[in-house]
Amino acid sequence: MSMCKEDKGRVRGKKRKNGASSWLLVRRLHILNIAPVHMKLMEHLLFIGGKWIKSYSEETFPSINPANELVIGLFQQGNEEDVRAAVDAAESAYEAWSETPAPKRGEILLKVAQLLRKKKEELAKLETAEMGKVLPEARSDVQEAIDVFEYMAGEGRRLFGNTTPSELKSKFACTIRRPIGIVGLITPWNFPIAIPAWKLSAALICGNTVVFKPSSDTPLCAVELVKILVEAGVPSGVINMITGPGSSVGKEIVTNKKIRALSFTGSRDTGEWIAQNAGIKKVGLELGGKNAIIVMDDADLPLAIDGAVWSAFGTTGQRCTAASRIIVHEKIQKDFETAFCVRAKQLVLGPGLSEKTDIGPLVNRQAVEKCERYIDIGKKEGAKLLCGGKRLGIKGFFFEPTIFTNATIDMKISQQEIFGPVVSVISVKSLEEAIDVCNSIEYGLSSAIYTKNIDNAFRAIEKIEAGITYVNSSTIGSEVHLPFGGVKQSGTAREGGILGIDEFSEVKTVYIDYSSKLQKAQMDVG
Ligand code: NAP
Repeated sequence: MSMCKEDKGRVRGKKRKNGASSWLLVRRLHILNIAPVHMKLMEHLLFIGGKWIKSYSEETFPSINPANELVIGLFQQGNEEDVRAAVDAAESAYEAWSETPAPKRGEILLKVAQLLRKKKEELAKLETAEMGKVLPEARSDVQEAIDVFEYMAGEGRRLFGNTTPSELKSKFACTIRRPIGIVGLITPWNFPIAIPAWKLSAALICGNTVVFKPSSDTPLCAVELVKILVEAGVPSGVINMITGPGSSVGKEIVTNKKIRALSFTGSRDTGEWIAQNAGIKKVGLELGGKNAIIVMDDADLPLAIDGAVWSAFGTTGQRCTAASRIIVHEKIQKDFETAFCVRAKQLVLGPGLSEKTDIGPLVNRQAVEKCERYIDIGKKEGAKLLCGGKRLGIKGFFFEPTIFTNATIDMKISQQEIFGPVVSVISVKSLEEAIDVCNSIEYGLSSAIYTKNIDNAFRAIEKIEAGITYVNSSTIGSEVHLPFGGVKQSGTAREGGILGIDEFSEVKTVYIDYSSKLQKAQMDVG
């Protein structure tokens, strides 16, 4: 096993078995025939207080390439003790970082953006290897990170508060922004660079220090991102990264009282647990979706089909904004379904690094099994399979683009997030019915309507219960300077743009009385 140079920084006092558990794991993987015999696995470390170190647990876990099921690296199985050490480091670094002028913090973030740009191709390839998405999409994930670091760097020269007149004479009133303190960031695997980047850039520009836990499916992307932040000059202790399970690392971040704010992106169920257990801290939740596209009888059909294919099968359906319901006007249902199926069948499944591939693998075996379960459920519920429905019988977690028709709103396949390339077509008779169907779920993240009628478009914008509505465009395509987030069970947060700054700052109200006398609000006449 080759150890990466990060390991030189070990400083913990506790005695450890130094990688023995990793070797055992590699041997187990060889026995399971999921790692080639000659493979040299790199062991990656935690980042705490400016040093790359091993976990107190002395255990590691593998990250697996979903396109070929080979192990791409070993990662520290962090635990509660590691989180507490990270919190201490973040606490020590807080004063200096929060007092660093925001434009100076912005300069560091700009350097992060520049380094990301320089390493874009390398990072994109690594992301494809670890998470599976096709290379052009991985590039766009890195691009989103570049965009948000650039945007938040500029925010360092704004971070505006408000001024407003006082009700009294010779009194000045305004608001200013203050950092919150130590913030916990917990992220999923489907945008392993962009989602941490949205959170990190906003948290850091506001002057907070960070304890960051990435998904155990994509720890390598997180390690590489943190290395870039360090290279750009983020001081020791300002960012701390702990890999390891949600059940220990995640829970400790959620419940630790020194952590004053938490920004979480992930599933609804985890979000619900966090909402119940975080205690008194500022909590931002970005959760799941069951997004719909409405296709009206006056829609530009080829455009709507382009949007449906991209929304349903892009990123193998593993976007929180993916469309898993297409609500089609009955007058065009047949034409729509025929063309949609032809396009789905043309999509090429394969490794994300191949230029010929349209659709990469699902992230892991459980995701394949989940899709299979929902195919069975859909059939039993009476929906009709138009195409797809099966895993590919090859190595890797590949699943066919799948379309159900004759779906109704009460079916589980129309209600629950499958998070794979499985979409249901639901037929409706009117815009009103389409909007009712669209809103008949507990989620409310993204939505779209295809129509040439401006009245239909504005009615949909007004009535659809979702954080985002697109007109004549797919359910996918957020930009970093606009707010992103959902309503209902899709969460409570808004990230991006100025609302992203709101998530990571406290607003302080300031009154300055220059009357040289005691003035009483609501009692004295100004
Ligand atoms: P997940 O299972 O909820 O996991 C998300 C993160 O939470 C992971 O880092 C996970 O750790 C951690 N975690 C698990 N249990 C925890 C606990 N009790 N306390 C604290 N942390 C815990 O979600 P996922 O499968 O990674 O991501 C897919 C989901 O994310 C989908 O529902 C998708 O819609 C949603 N998503 C939402 C958005 C949005 O912006 N609204 C964006 C992307 C994805 P480990 O997995 O390492 O154990």
